[in-house]
Amino acid sequence: MAERRSELGRREFLRVAGAGALAASTSILPGGAAALAAQGPSPHELPPLPYAPDALEPYYSQQTVELHHGKHHAAYVKGLNEAEAKIAEMAQSGDFGQAKATCKALAFHGSGHVLHSVFWTNMRPGGGGDPQGPLAYALSLEFRSVDAAKSLFVAATNAVEGSGWGVLAYVPETNRLVILQAEKHENLTQWGAIPLLVCDVWEHAYYLQYQNKRADWVAAFMEHLVNWDDVAARFEAARRR
Ligand code: MN
Repeated sequence: MAERRSELGRREFLRVAGAGALAASTSILPGGAAALAAQGPSPHELPPLPYAPDALEPYYSQQTVELHHGKHHAAYVKGLNEAEAKIAEMAQSGDFGQAKATCKALAFHGSGHVLHSVFWTNMRPGGGGDPQGPLAYALSLEFRSVDAAKSLFVAATNAVEGSGWGVLAYVPETNRLVILQAEKHENLTQWGAIPLLVCDVWEHAYYLQYQNKRADWVAAFMEHLVNWDDVAARFEAARRR
């Protein structure tokens, strides 16, 4: 039996190897798998703002938006690309001595890029109000009412220790909506949580305009800026995953 299994294994290997050679020789895969592997993944790019930088005035000043997007978010994109380049370098050299620092940078800058990308689309001129439809129903089911969900989001966001975020997320694994804090960008999450609504409470997010009054910034975000249509669309997409 062992011999037979071994023979089958060899035959299977040859079949797969043959298919690979065929694919490479006839360019069934665009560019060939080996060429793709050598090239590595494309670098990340700073997504454009979905509105003009002054569109969120007077609740979010043009100067803050321009610095926040063009300098701070851009720095996370750069840091993420650098971390990924370092990973490619380690994979090529076989020297994984920088694994700890690189994986930490990947979590920090990668989370920073993801959260800021969600954040910009979570706002719109003339935002605020309340969610409607399935999102409103799901929030009421989870937190008793939309008002309670909003109050918990505000309280959690205001109380973030140091630099971080308030986060409303959907967790496919448990089919639940959760309100979380994030310290820095990557700490205090539930694994698998997909961010739907995020509010940045790093000082760079509000200090120029709101100085030390974090709660005033969070109140303005909820009452005048939040784009519930975007949050609802993210909820629908997350539930389909
Ligand atoms: Mn930020």
